[in-house]
Amino acid sequence: MSLRIMAIGAHPDDVEILAAGTLARYRERGHAIAVCILTDGRLGAPTGDPDIVAATRREEAQAAADLLGAELFWIGQPDGMLYDNPETRTAAVEAVRTFSPNILFAHDPNDYHPDHRAASTIAMSARQLATAPLFVTDARPLATAPSVYYMDPLGLVGDAPELWVDISSTVDIKRQMLWCHKSQNEWLQNTDGIDYVTFIDRQGQIRGLQCGVSYAEGFRAARTYPIETGCSGLPGL
Ligand SMILES: [Zn+2]
Repeated sequence: MSLRIMAIGAHPDDVEILAAGTLARYRERGHAIAVCILTDGRLGAPTGDPDIVAATRREEAQAAADLLGAELFWIGQPDGMLYDNPETRTAAVEAVRTFSPNILFAHDPNDYHPDHRAASTIAMSARQLATAPLFVTDARPLATAPSVYYMDPLGLVGDAPELWVDISSTVDIKRQMLWCHKSQNEWLQNTDGIDYVTFIDRQGQIRGLQCGVSYAEGFRAARTYPIETGCSGLPGL
């Protein structure tokens, strides 16, 4: 069965950090992938013109999506001011309906950044409203709401995962996707003295250690109606 997988992230690079290895595994198996980014990332630099920062980050996100072979949905809400408001919720519903995923990856509801927490809520709101026939957008309503899985919180600070995906075979493409975010790598290098690969290798190795592989990513099923049955693994992997 061919699956359709959408990951909804708050900022350009969040999906790469938290789920790129898993998405690449799905891609290798021939499933269709989409990345939906809710904000424009305009605060993602220490100095400069936020409009230029946002434009740069959109190009970087597109390059990373192209490497993965994923469709990119760019919602473009202002970085740092993401809310589950009518405009954002409607845009997210439209993206979900347009791609029609079976599986939705969303931020952990308790992740560190306010935009991540809002993005988690927006993903859950969009998932449900996407099926409502009388909620009219350009795209047709979905027949079935996609299953939702929360990605790890940044730095793995928060609730433990319940699903571990071995990404040892796809960690290289994850690294390449992260290097597409050149502006963020440079900022991280200058402020924290580390780069994405170091950060991701540490995070992936911790999850890998927990399940006996070199690198892994962790997820939790959203516990809401209709409840997912079983937790033996992600569908299709
Ligand atoms: Zn983020």
